[in-house]
Amino acid sequence: MKIGLIRCRQTEDACPGTTDFKVIRERKCAFEGIEEEIEIIGLTTCGGCPGKKAVTRAAEMVRRGADTIVIASCITRGNPIGFPCPHAEKIVEAIRKKVGDDIRIIEYTH
Ligand code: SF4
Repeated sequence: MKIGLIRCRQTEDACPGTTDFKVIRERKCAFEGIEEEIEIIGLTTCGGCPGKKAVTRAAEMVRRGADTIVIASCITRGNPIGFPCPHAEKIVEAIRKKVGDDIRIIEYTH
């Protein structure tokens, strides 16, 4: 699995993604049961509100080899402050439309 990871830009000051990397490394939470090798080919943000840049950034990571786009929990679950992105659903939907059905999308990390 080659992952392109997308996170919330608003959350950067509070979180450097430590738990995302930990659950990927330890195959926990969204990565439980994944037996294939996991490589992170890129990490980027949504580009800032309202998150439109996440779409082209996801496409660029696919172009660079990602077969899976992972939407970090700061976007869909609001970690670590309990404040999910108000545009999360739209972001995921637009990424799915842009990258197509061959690319797996995982909608949270932990
Ligand atoms: S659009 Fe959503 S994910 Fe992006 S910075 Fe704003 S709140 Fe965070």
